[in-house]
Order: sequence, then structure tokens, then C-alpha cells
Amino acid sequence: MGLRSDHEERVVGVVQASRDELVALASELIACDTTARDPGEPPREEERLQRILEQRLRASGAETELWEPEPIGHGHPYVAAELDFDGRPQLVARVRGSGGGRSLLLNGHIDAVETGAHELWTSDPFRAEIRDGKLYGRGACDMKGGVTTLGFAVEALRRAGVQLRGDIVFCSNTDEESSGVGGWAAVRHGVAAAAGICAEPTGFDVFAACRGTTTGVLTVPGRAGHAEMPQPHWRAGGAVNAIEAALPLIESLRRLRDEWRTRPDQRHALLSPSSITPTIIRAGQWSVTYPESCTVTCDLDYLPGSVDEAGTGRPAHAEVEAWVCAVAAADPWLVEHPPSWEWIDDCPPAEVPVDHAIVVGALEAAGDLGREGRITGLDSWHDAATYTLLGGTPTISFGPGQLLVAHSVDEYVPVDDLVDHAAAVALLLMRWCGVAA
Ligand SMILES: [Zn+2]
Repeated sequence: MGLRSDHEERVVGVVQASRDELVALASELIACDTTARDPGEPPREEERLQRILEQRLRASGAETELWEPEPIGHGHPYVAAELDFDGRPQLVARVRGSGGGRSLLLNGHIDAVETGAHELWTSDPFRAEIRDGKLYGRGACDMKGGVTTLGFAVEALRRAGVQLRGDIVFCSNTDEESSGVGGWAAVRHGVAAAAGICAEPTGFDVFAACRGTTTGVLTVPGRAGHAEMPQPHWRAGGAVNAIEAALPLIESLRRLRDEWRTRPDQRHALLSPSSITPTIIRAGQWSVTYPESCTVTCDLDYLPGSVDEAGTGRPAHAEVEAWVCAVAAADPWLVEHPPSWEWIDDCPPAEVPVDHAIVVGALEAAGDLGREGRITGLDSWHDAATYTLLGGTPTISFGPGQLLVAHSVDEYVPVDDLVDHAAAVALLLMRWCGVAA
């Protein structure tokens, strides 16, 4: 191991001797049902989980603040409908440094995706179980494992008697999976630092960039009429089948996706080109009636180069709209009854330079523990983008476990990953914030 001081040896020793405690804390967090919400759903056990963390971090010398943010909505791009935080508090815990060092944000989201049928799981998704050195349970890797290691790294420093020069800012927020509003609420509350890490399951790699993600809803108009009766031309009042009108437009989205794959402005060192995928289609009201409208919901993922000055994905939306509009121009019905787009839940892309000290520092800390990682990007989205783009805190994802098992039945995190990640974060804290003499 490439440890650089007695302090580092001592702190890593504390973490390595605390394997069972790490597993116990992760299991405690998994036992809290923090399934991500649909709008309007009541809170679950978000507060219980946050209080577990709050109590432990206080015992480690942190000043803590648990707060329910003001509702978010009112035109914020992340959310289509207003969302409140009643019963879903956010937590920030600050360990003050002695002065003269850089601050570091440690961030994790506490919501987890729904479990699906429990019978499909080998063990109860809310009762963590170890099999073959892996800790199983909903959220084990995405990302209660990471929240555990971030919190435990703070504890380990305290136990090893190491005082830092810079501040540690620990923040666990809700609503990453649902919308991204939890991270936004934290940023709006002033949660910031000189740099940050989100402990998403990167398997010790560093995600230095992510694509933006947004939902587009295309509505194609038709005109209702009896499906078993001959219909006059639509100009003479005849029916128009909205499904058939929509088909060339849907097909054109595939061509746009193909074009993006080959276009030079869609090349990014860490990310796939932009993509658009139809995911939900709704049309028709009666089996013997021409459908009067067809709505096609699409998932649009776009590159950091496709944002406007306000950080929204409007340029990407506009490109999709223009592309589909050009195809619709071939259909006289659609020329006179144009399809429309609605864009909702726009979570913007972000990137941190690959030579940024937080990127280099995280990889070095992991590498010094025998966990060689690489710099890569996330084609989906993570809270790190909010902290980077809107909070002024260059934030990467760097965490235990593999993204491939996130959101899956029998989700797990290797126990060795928990130990090594907690140790890596503790090392990074010492090197980034500086150790007080
Ligand atoms: Zn996650």
C-alpha cells in the first residue's frame, strides 16, 4: 500500500478493523424503506434514516442540520409538478477544520428505486444479508453502501485522532432517483465546498462527466371517427388516424439517434453521443374509433455541449423539435395540425476536467489501496451534476459497488468494497483538506 504517513496508516487501520461495523451501518440504512417517490406519495422512512446518520456524525464531532426544504416547482426545470419535502428532510453535517485547508463535500442520495416483487429476491430486500462476501439488499450499491462509507470515513478520522485543516461537508439528500430535486434543494440551501464526491457505485472508477437527461412528450393530433366506415378526405371532415400520423415521426427519431452516433459535434471523450428513445406510447380510446391523438414519451440524453447559458437542455430540445417538424412537413394534415412537444424533468449534464485535483486525488487514494480505477463518464445522470453546475462545487462520482447491479433484483455491494472505499475516502479527506499539525 502506498500510504504516506503514520496518520494515514492509523486511519486505514481503523477502517480495516471496522468491517463488521460498516456492514452493520449499511444494513441499518437498507432496513429503512426510502423507496423513491412518485409525486403525491407520502414520505416513507427518510427521516428515520437521516436521524441515524445525524446521530453518528454528531458523535464524530460534526455540527448537523436536518431540514425540510421549501417546496420546489414553480418552473424549475427538474420538476414538472410541485414537490414538497414534508417528512423528507435533507441532512448536512459539517466537521470544522482547524483552518487553512480546502473543504470537501461528501454526498450521497438516500432514496432507492422500488424493489419489484419481493418473491423474486433471494432474501428480503430490506433485510440485508451477506452471501459470498457480498451484502445484498435494495440500495446496497445504489447507494446506501456509499452513504455508509462516506459517513464512516468521517468517524474513522475521529477515532484515529486525526484533525483536518479544511472542513468536511457531508450531505445526504433525498430525491435523486425521482427527479434530482433533493440535490437541488441542498445546493439552494448553500451546501457547497471546494470540490465534492458523490459515492455512486462506480467500482472505484471516477465519473468525471454525465449526460443531461430529460423527458419529451410528443403529441400528434388526429381526428376521431368510426373505424369501420369509409371516411371522406380530412379536408371534407373525414377522420384521421393519429397512430398512423405518428409513425413516420417515431421512425424519424431512430434516424436522428443514428445521425448523432456519427456526427463530429456528438463526440465526447467520456460519454456516448446524445440519444433519444421512445419509451411510452399512448393512443386510442375505443377499438372501433380512429384515435384522436397519439402521445409518444421519449427519453432524451444529451451532451454537455448542448446546454444553453442557463444550464438547461433547450438547444437539444430544439434540435429534436426541428428534426421532427421537418418530417411532419411532408404530411399536409400535420402541416395544418402541427404536433407539439412538452419537455419535463430536465436534469442538465455536467463535467469536471479530467486533470482536476479531485479526479486525480480520488484515483490516487484508491490506487494506494490496491484499487486501480480509471476516469470515465456516466451516460445517465447523477446529483454530482447539480453540485457542479448549479452549486459551484466541482463534483465527481466515486464509490463502492458496480452500477450494473444497481436497480436490479438481488442488488449487492461487495463488503471488501465498503472497507476499501471508506479507507479511500478517509485518505482523500486527509490529502485534500490537509492534516492539522
Ligand atoms: Zn444512485
